[in-house]
Amino acid sequence: MTNDQIMTTETMTTATTRDTQVFDLIAKEQHRQESGIELIASENFVSPAVLEAAGSVLTNKYAEGLPGKRYYGGCEVVDQVEQIAIDRAKELFGASWANVQPHSGANANMAVFLACLKPGDTILGFDLSHGGHLTHGSSVNISGKYFRPTFYGVERETGVIDYDKVEETAMREGPKMMICGASAYSRDWDYARLRAIADQIGALLLADISHPAGLIAKGLLNDPLDHVHIATTTTHKTLRGTRGGLIMLRNDFENPFGIKTPKGELRMMSSLLDSGVFPGTQGGPLEHIIAAKAVAFGEALTDDFAAYASRVQANAQAMARAFTDRGYSIISGGTDNHLMLIDLRSKGNHLTGKLAENTLIKADITINKNMVPFDDKSPMVTSGMRVGTAAMTTRGLVESDMERIVVYIDEVLTNHDNDAKILAIREEINEWMKAFPLYQV
Ligand SMILES: *Cc1c(COP(=O)(O)O)cnc(C)c1O
Repeated sequence: MTNDQIMTTETMTTATTRDTQVFDLIAKEQHRQESGIELIASENFVSPAVLEAAGSVLTNKYAEGLPGKRYYGGCEVVDQVEQIAIDRAKELFGASWANVQPHSGANANMAVFLACLKPGDTILGFDLSHGGHLTHGSSVNISGKYFRPTFYGVERETGVIDYDKVEETAMREGPKMMICGASAYSRDWDYARLRAIADQIGALLLADISHPAGLIAKGLLNDPLDHVHIATTTTHKTLRGTRGGLIMLRNDFENPFGIKTPKGELRMMSSLLDSGVFPGTQGGPLEHIIAAKAVAFGEALTDDFAAYASRVQANAQAMARAFTDRGYSIISGGTDNHLMLIDLRSKGNHLTGKLAENTLIKADITINKNMVPFDDKSPMVTSGMRVGTAAMTTRGLVESDMERIVVYIDEVLTNHDNDAKILAIREEINEWMKAFPLYQV
């Protein structure tokens, strides 16, 4: 064994300078993030404090179980960290119970399903091709393989959900669980109406608020927790935290499946959901990420974050107006939240989501291609693009900047075969972005 192979404190502290292969790439990625326009609706930029917590020594700790009830010793400190994350999540959303351990939004949903459903049970979700999420019953996801998925969607003419039709579908299919929430739906949800439908058929109602969570936390959209049985969310989209998941209840309740404690009492739903996360679908929690969630929730509790969330929404409205003014058709005609889905066919049938994504990236503008409702193209091509304002609002851009972005997008798409023109736009964008520093070294 050579000296090089012996792991010493010294080799650990110099890892950043030695492993140039990886750390050069991280530096490159930071440069990419700082020099371009980020419009992917599910992305955001975390604060340096969140970043520091996520990169902390808490990654070394095993802590299976919950604060105060762990399967490992030495959890006194991480217990306090996790409890702060739980308490802040509860305060932020007015919840009475929260589990902050899900590694991601998909994991949060899987834990809920494991707690509430049996293989083969019927679920009713929002159609993926209309803006739903793949964890709500898509055939390629565990939710569609282990359960019997049924779907509701938007109306072809309006691009909006017709709740009478949701009711019809729910009555016909008799789901054990109804799921609302989406990845590409720009309108607010009628949670009260959905709960009334769920109550008629004795279904549980789950709201997956992964996208608009930050706006919901600050009261800018309808409050799902007032109405639904269970809420799940990611923590890294409009909530602007680290990559992760969260499950919440406003009101805990006895499980309706007759599952009893050893003492013969009905188990509470919170207890079933805790078990759904661990040991049901996960092992040890990521305490460094939970610390980062705690920091992010702390930030989200401030008035500064309330102002941020309002600007996200105002910027989305400004962006929607600018697109509409230039002849782009937005599904449902506008937006209530931070994102919009644009039907590119309004600018000619040659313009696909794939072409838009691949062309815009040459100008350092990042968007994602997206199916539009009733799309005639494949998921790898698509007729749509999805854009959101959460990330660029974090960078400090305001409503007038949204217009400037839309002008760039329109110029790039109109000149998609003119590389010289696109490169000139890219240089302008790189120069512009220097005025909005992100992570100063
Ligand atoms: C993003 C998203 C998820 C999945 O989150 P991951 O952290 O990527 O697993 C789940 N549901 C909805 C509605 C989402 O938008």
